[in-house]
Amino acid sequence: MAWHASELTLFPSLTWDDVAPTASAPIRSALDRVLQQQDGACLSDEERRALAYSEGSDLRALLVAADMLRRELVGNIVSYVVNRNMNFTNICFVGCKFCAFSRGPREADSYFHSLEDMGRKAKEAWDLGATEVCIQGGLPRDLAPFYYRDILRAVKNATPRMHIHAFSPMEIVYGVELTGMPLRDYLLMLRDNGLDTLPGTAAEILDDEVRHVLSRNKLSTAQWQEVIRTAHQCGIPSTSTLMYGHMETPDHWVRQLALLRQIQSETGGFTEFVPLGFVHQNTLLFQQGLARTGPTLEEHLKIHALARILLAGSIQNIQVSWVKLNRKLSQLCLQAGANDYGGTLMEENISREAGATAGQYTSPEDFQALILEIGRIPAERNTKYSRMQIKLPVDPAPQEWALDAEFA
Ligand code: SF4
Repeated sequence: MAWHASELTLFPSLTWDDVAPTASAPIRSALDRVLQQQDGACLSDEERRALAYSEGSDLRALLVAADMLRRELVGNIVSYVVNRNMNFTNICFVGCKFCAFSRGPREADSYFHSLEDMGRKAKEAWDLGATEVCIQGGLPRDLAPFYYRDILRAVKNATPRMHIHAFSPMEIVYGVELTGMPLRDYLLMLRDNGLDTLPGTAAEILDDEVRHVLSRNKLSTAQWQEVIRTAHQCGIPSTSTLMYGHMETPDHWVRQLALLRQIQSETGGFTEFVPLGFVHQNTLLFQQGLARTGPTLEEHLKIHALARILLAGSIQNIQVSWVKLNRKLSQLCLQAGANDYGGTLMEENISREAGATAGQYTSPEDFQALILEIGRIPAERNTKYSRMQIKLPVDPAPQEWALDAEFA
């Protein structure tokens, strides 16, 4: 049975004892076992699928269980990183149908930031308290072969201590093609020139049939895995992502989460999992009738909860991509298993072009207020989650925020 949206959003006020008796026996038993063992590996394929397709009372049980498991595994802190997004160009030949960001080289609003600009922007960000720059861009046809390396040098020269989180696996494959270097050597060269971590973007759905529709020029599932595994082996950790709400099914989610678990068990290189909601406006994929109108409320909540349950014991951090959600929805996803808000993003172009409305920048103070509103503890982290600093306002109003005392 499907639920009315207003009914579903009441789940944060419910406990396991409230929801367990109303869930079906197979769902209750699967969730009970994960809660006990705190490891998604204990689920059968059939149970994982049943959770991914759950609705009504079963979905509500999944959301509540995911929040309980989050509390057990990572406590009540919600972290964020102060960063700047630097999309150094929007010129791209790849032509992904879900992308509203890319431009042809002769379009009036195409742009290309110089190396000097990149260094200056990084310095500005550092001076404003950023600890990370996230650098990705379009793929222009005539890019200088070592341009990605040169960006790293420009940023490190301007801000030697800035963490550089840069270049999607698609950009890495392009860099390999441009330079003719073997993948491992190319990644080692980037690492030695300042690349700290890699965004695990360009994953979308790791299924070649779906990828062929989304973007036939993009790297294959096998190439994505090869880049990620090699990066991890070279000491370059990465995030992991999945784009949901377009033409995929919950089966794709289940298979992708299993694949990410598999890679994590081999390399231990994923820092977090980030579900990315498809923003349908202004995309060919939607205009050509190939995709639905982005995720439903149920899908937004379910993918975060499912990730918490299925990745338990493998990937600790589940991130909310606030740019693609509104404030209330981002809070609900944090109450459905997620524990991280991602970056403040002093500059966000990609989702805005596609029609996302959450804005361009969320200040650390905004994050802190949003986190306190749901009774959790805000903390600024570094990119690798190895350092956290709890951030509480100087003069909190306890009657409004009702903070949980747990700092686990
Ligand atoms: S998603 Fe990236 S690779 Fe694809 S068209 Fe957009 S900018 Fe190019």
